[in-house]
Amino acid sequence: MTTVAAYAAPAPKAPLERTTIERRPVGAHDVLIDIKFAGICHSDIHQARDGWSEGIFPMVPGHEIAGVVTEVGPEVTKFSVGDRVGVGCMVDSCRECDNCKAGLEQYCTGGGPTLTYNDTDKQGEPTYGGYSENVVVNEDFVVRIPDGLELDVAAPLLCAGITTYSPLRHWGVGPGKKVAVVGLGGLGHVGVKIAHALGAEVTVLSQSLRKKDDGLRLGADHYYATSDPKTFEELAGTFDVILNTVSAPLDFAEYVSLLRTDGTLVNVGLPEEPVQITLQSMFGQRRSISSSGIGGIAETQEMLDFCAEHGVGAEIELIGAEEINDAYERVTASDVRYRFVIDTATI
Ligand SMILES: [Zn+2]
Ligand SMILES: [Zn+2]
Repeated sequence: MTTVAAYAAPAPKAPLERTTIERRPVGAHDVLIDIKFAGICHSDIHQARDGWSEGIFPMVPGHEIAGVVTEVGPEVTKFSVGDRVGVGCMVDSCRECDNCKAGLEQYCTGGGPTLTYNDTDKQGEPTYGGYSENVVVNEDFVVRIPDGLELDVAAPLLCAGITTYSPLRHWGVGPGKKVAVVGLGGLGHVGVKIAHALGAEVTVLSQSLRKKDDGLRLGADHYYATSDPKTFEELAGTFDVILNTVSAPLDFAEYVSLLRTDGTLVNVGLPEEPVQITLQSMFGQRRSISSSGIGGIAETQEMLDFCAEHGVGAEIELIGAEEINDAYERVTASDVRYRFVIDTATI
């Protein structure tokens, strides 16, 4: 075991503070990663504040990890010391179920994937995330960050990037398709960039026009305010895919009415309350509502390669570790453009 510095929430809703944690020894198939940057995902805040379910405390959040390999186990074949790498939301899975074998480790049916933090690994030890100096991860759950991507803007891609890339690909977004992205926040701004890079015609649907200039700069072709009822009249029956990145409950029937025949509303934001929808809004045009969670390891690598090729990185505000609690407040108030990233050298 090695003792490393980290930022942890000692108890639910308690501010994060500097502490130390133990990392396991580097096993045969493990790599030791010197963490350089860790993104702050909205779900870090939910979990540190225990909004979703009973958390494991102390909790070291962080599942948008970018760093450099500093040690490899004797059986490691995929990575060498000095490689630029990333770790996202999972660090292991059963590896035996149909989904794991198909590269859909995020949907592992053999007990679910082992999450990067707020979970227990196969040895029964708690997992600790990226708000720390280093991490030991099995090589099969590590991805390569191509040279064309800076590590700081790559970090958020490990959650926000794959969360938007996977459904856009799954539902066939590309040239000739019209896509709407609901919400221009941490997830949405990356979704806009990726959908644009995939060749689709991209519309942002945001509460107001406050971030319109940003949206157009990031690659959107159109930008509409959902607070204006005329938006829903004008755009009725328009989109092949609507990617909803907002966690607040929406009037789903209203958004479904914006889909073309066979269009899909995909939800990657998760409201805490059940949602209501009248099926009549879907029935007439064979529309669908769906949901999608992150992506598999191979697809995460594909996403990073795609982003490097198309110059897609997150828009970030780089902060020191002592600013984490302030950053949490600002994320909760939607006051970030568009992702906080911790410079882990400051931990
Ligand atoms: Zn996340
Ligand atoms: Zn599995």
